[in-house]
Amino acid sequence: MNKKRLLSALSALCFAATAVFAQASADEVRMNKYIDGLMAKMTLQEKLGQLNLPVTGEIVTGEAKSSDVAEKIRRGEVGGLFNLKGVEKIKELQSIAVEQSRLHIPLLFGMDVIHGYETVFPIPFALSCSWDMAAIERSAQIAAQEASADGLNWTFSPMLDICADPRWGRMAEGNGEDPYLGAQIARAMVKGYQGDNLAKPNTVMACVKHFALYGGAEAGRDYNTVDMSRWRMFNRYMPPYKAAVEAGAQSVMTAFNVVEGVPATGNRWLLTDVLRNMWGFKGMVVTDFTAISEMTAHGLGDLKTVSAMALNAGTDMDMVADGFLATLPQSLADGSVTMQTIDTACRRILETKWKLGLFEDPYRYCNVKRAKKEIFTPENRAEARRIAAETFVLLKNNNSMLPLQRKGRIALVGPLANTSSNMSGTWSVAARLTENRTMVEAMREAVAGKAEVLYAKGSNLMYDAQREANATMFGREMRDSRSAKEMLDEAMTVAKDADVIVAAVGESSEMSGECSSRTNLDMPDAQRDMLIELQKLGKSIVLLYFSGRPTVMTWENAQFPAILNVWFGGCETANAICDVLFGDKAPSGKLSATMPKSVGQIPLFYNHLNTGRPLGEGRWFEKFHSNYLDIDNDPLFPFGYGLSYTTFKYGKPSISATEMKEGDVLTVSVDVTNTGNYDADEVVQLYVRDVVGTVSRPVKELKGFSRISLLNGETKRVDFKLTVDDLKFYDQQLDYRAEPGDFEVMVGPNSRNVQKLTFTLK
Ligand code: BGC
Repeated sequence: MNKKRLLSALSALCFAATAVFAQASADEVRMNKYIDGLMAKMTLQEKLGQLNLPVTGEIVTGEAKSSDVAEKIRRGEVGGLFNLKGVEKIKELQSIAVEQSRLHIPLLFGMDVIHGYETVFPIPFALSCSWDMAAIERSAQIAAQEASADGLNWTFSPMLDICADPRWGRMAEGNGEDPYLGAQIARAMVKGYQGDNLAKPNTVMACVKHFALYGGAEAGRDYNTVDMSRWRMFNRYMPPYKAAVEAGAQSVMTAFNVVEGVPATGNRWLLTDVLRNMWGFKGMVVTDFTAISEMTAHGLGDLKTVSAMALNAGTDMDMVADGFLATLPQSLADGSVTMQTIDTACRRILETKWKLGLFEDPYRYCNVKRAKKEIFTPENRAEARRIAAETFVLLKNNNSMLPLQRKGRIALVGPLANTSSNMSGTWSVAARLTENRTMVEAMREAVAGKAEVLYAKGSNLMYDAQREANATMFGREMRDSRSAKEMLDEAMTVAKDADVIVAAVGESSEMSGECSSRTNLDMPDAQRDMLIELQKLGKSIVLLYFSGRPTVMTWENAQFPAILNVWFGGCETANAICDVLFGDKAPSGKLSATMPKSVGQIPLFYNHLNTGRPLGEGRWFEKFHSNYLDIDNDPLFPFGYGLSYTTFKYGKPSISATEMKEGDVLTVSVDVTNTGNYDADEVVQLYVRDVVGTVSRPVKELKGFSRISLLNGETKRVDFKLTVDDLKFYDQQLDYRAEPGDFEVMVGPNSRNVQKLTFTLK
């Protein structure tokens, strides 16, 4: 390009950029003017109404107008509603707000669309095991498409709580233990939900939750105290939330837990100093369910006190506690809160409604025709099936036992084999639970005409009926009234006749998720006993292991030749499992969290610090070293681990330079060859270690990954780019910076099997 053309291209670019900027600020000017005008007309009660997010309860279509909540809407006491399903009902309620309330302000309609709407995708933890950002973004986009077609404009997702304690059931809803992977997923989810314009009728507002540190609950017990240093929170727990804010998430939900002794919902340092002042968050903050009134049980005072505290901290919207509406007038009168603080919160909610396009068209998300056409479509379900197959993690496959051939007799046993309602996974609020295929149905179809599938349940989930009831709520019940012996006898008869046994075992879907903490992560008793009996037949047993979290699989690993962890794969779980089980696709998932050998090792995570007395990997017990008397320190399966049906050979990695300075980009390259017999995907991982620092630095940290597809025999070169930004961390003063010195960079198929190179930051 000659100089003149270059200059004219540049000036055109500048002109376009200025035009975009001018456009953005013109929109903002219009928005501010509109909201100023509106707020000038609002009474205190109407302003507080905007801050109120009550629960609706069940509403029958056609009767919304006479429901309890309708009266509140008419009075202007409601800013939004949530977990109400069905565009017609939503439209009815919206019409009350815009036609019958004094100021006609439209409502927000939210829902926990956590991993898909009616087309349910794998649970978030499973999705994170795909390491496939395009797939994750796509799942969020389809979720937004369906949810918005059914009247919703807001989802309470993504859940970005880092967790290294699988006793906590909500690991199912998060993305595992790693801040880097978590941050990439955060961006993908926000982009998937919100697209490039919140006002488009097929996007929904994302809600980053649970801010903050909810995954750090002591002892893995839900809602429990969280306490950690700022150094740890900024280095390990905050990056995903921050990434989501940077990606433009328009709302944030407060966590139930305390942060440095103060409940997140009333924590001004967290909600104002960090979220808004440090990170520049411009959207609205909503509490978690009754989190304001729960501050009373935390010991912070009565409803009036804690409501004022929450508002002053930076909370804008009260979910269900009724604290703002009921007590803020009095707090305003006695000076505990100011009108300006109320106005600020109200403005943020109105701005959100503006950005969603609701003032322009309150029925933007209420197109009844769309609901009929765009939800649970064959195309969306095909995507769910494709994506689910990427999330399964093959932990063990001795003598290439998998994939199974479509021949002979296959005995399918276990409590997860014939349940449809347990396939979607926890938090599938909008799912068509009974329409999920069961494993029996899917497997029979997958082998039709070639092999026979014999089925027996074999055991209940666990012996204790009450415990099982607690773990199978919300329509996920699966209890069999037969005796354990009767069920086992049936399974033994079926298995005796079979060539191979496939055991669909593990957790029910509600054994993970909210309020589903466990202290024992072993296979539940009844299922374990069934497997022990089946083993006596001397036949090969494949474990299809369902769970919403990493569990302890030490016994299984010692006993069974093939183990495929399938988590909960959404509405297409059973079909996707068959795709992988019979080799139409090779498994490619990799663990996004460490699997411990024992609950006693928890919390166990790969990116830990060294102690002053470290024990080398693969070693067990040396006196006066940091270890246990009864078990070594290593995990059963490390972070990033997962097998394929094929094998991959990693070449010797190379690095473009051994010295780096600010502004440089280092390239780390490695050739990966598919040396086996299947076309397959591999997730190539890059880790970095800062060898010497002013604070102790982790033994390794993920700083890059690449999911590649390789035909059998094919080689691809993977290039990772490293910049100084990748070497930065928060020091003791919480300054975010990189320190000069030596670094190790490691490449490999998981966090354990890595090849190392070194470089120096000048
Ligand atoms: C959960 C949130 C959820 C909310 C609304 C709470 O119990 O902690 O994650 O968004 O309920 O359903």
